[in-house]
Amino acid sequence: MNTFYHSTRGNSETVTSKQAILTGIAPDGGLFVSDQLGDAKLDLAQVASQTYHETAAQVLSALLDDYQKDEIESCVAGAYGDNFDTSAVTPVSALGDDWLLELYHGPTCAFKDVALQMLPRLMSCARKGDGRNVMIVTATSGDTGKAALAGFADIEGCGVTVFYPDGKVSDIQRLQMATQEGSNVAVCAIRGTFDDAQTEVKHIFANQELAQRLAERGTMLSSANSINVGRLVPQVTYYFDAYAQLVRNGSLSVGDAVDFCVPTGNFGDVLAGYYAKRLGLPVGKLIVASNTNKVLTDFLETGTYDRRRDFVKTISPSMDILVSSNLERMLYYLTDGDCERVSSFMRDLAERGFYTLPGALLAKLRETFDCGFATDDETRATIRSAWKQHHVLIDPHTAVAKTVLDRKEHGGNQRVCLSTASPYKFSADVLSALGASVDGLDGFACMDELQRLTGIAAPTQLSTLRSKDVLHKDVVDRDQMPDFVESSCKRVFA
Ligand SMILES: *Cc1c(COP(=O)(O)O)cnc(C)c1O
Repeated sequence: MNTFYHSTRGNSETVTSKQAILTGIAPDGGLFVSDQLGDAKLDLAQVASQTYHETAAQVLSALLDDYQKDEIESCVAGAYGDNFDTSAVTPVSALGDDWLLELYHGPTCAFKDVALQMLPRLMSCARKGDGRNVMIVTATSGDTGKAALAGFADIEGCGVTVFYPDGKVSDIQRLQMATQEGSNVAVCAIRGTFDDAQTEVKHIFANQELAQRLAERGTMLSSANSINVGRLVPQVTYYFDAYAQLVRNGSLSVGDAVDFCVPTGNFGDVLAGYYAKRLGLPVGKLIVASNTNKVLTDFLETGTYDRRRDFVKTISPSMDILVSSNLERMLYYLTDGDCERVSSFMRDLAERGFYTLPGALLAKLRETFDCGFATDDETRATIRSAWKQHHVLIDPHTAVAKTVLDRKEHGGNQRVCLSTASPYKFSADVLSALGASVDGLDGFACMDELQRLTGIAAPTQLSTLRSKDVLHKDVVDRDQMPDFVESSCKRVFA
């Protein structure tokens, strides 16, 4: 049996999961979905006795079934080895009466590693069919770029080129990228903003002449963004594995329902929780937690998704998003696969800035999803109280989710809060939330001070950055970006 993927906006053309992973986005601008989601279920009792790696292999086989068993096993072993600083990969720990699912033990100390350590391996297998080389091109405002670099470094047949806005990322973010090793990586600062970089990357993807020249050399361009099924699928694993850990520590019996609270931006992480539910995990509620950019809270409360509002910069920047792309997949499943309806919602969103779900669909959505938001001040207060009351140090994204969770009435289920970044990735904001002064301190000084204050060691992935060699020093203007990509392709796939 082959799982066939097609666009959320039309189901006439189908592709295999390998093709979906190589292309990323469907040609009509929709996202790849499969109508077989949930046909195969995982056996919970078995999951409870399995390692992370065994569960990951089962999840991948269920959702990407044109991959061979040995391909999946080698992808899993490569993605979740020494590059994670714990063999548990995503350990669960206690925070008061609730649980934290720690998703930040990978090379860049944030949850995107869980998917971005896997996607490159899935792509590398997928490209073997046609033998082309794949150059990933991405613009980053700071975090995703490093996770993509770390994931794609030294992956066979793949390269990665990352652009970031010069002077507009933190010292630590810049060093994380500028010190990246690997013969197939390219990093470049651009004179301009993140939006300039992002817009130019879109032009590069649309540039037919460039594509033609690269094709003659056997190279295709692709992206690694969070709508790729190859990023979504690996995230399903940790919902099951968290459940297994709670069964093993005696907090759950197999079959009990669990609620998950997820700090949300693009809706990829929480959507993976919905996929887990479709694959048989007893999920009670999925709580969508937002910061002040609370488009999703309003949507889940009123049924109207309205992006016409001011964009606010917060201390949880990875959730500063007004258009949550992966929600389109949820709309597809919510409407029982009505591509026309999904297309019309997306058209309204693009042209009018909003769309409204009929009441019956909103009610159906709310059977699984709950919501809430937290301001920066509330987020800081939660960081402080988690530390003062429980001696648990959490980052601002996790604190948004914990704030939202604390406000919900406890329905009796065990509750898991997804913890998406190491607090040391946001040392300055965490320090000031704890009441310390950060005046005149740079990123590393904040890290040292946070370590001194709490006695919790900073992850070596971050603390060793200061002694690493800076390998990438290029800075270009926006109009030089296409040339930079082309010369990276020539160098990497020489
Ligand atoms: C990307 C990110 C999120 C949001 O995840 P989505 O899948 O985009 O909803 C939350 N926290 C951190 C630290 C992130 O990097």
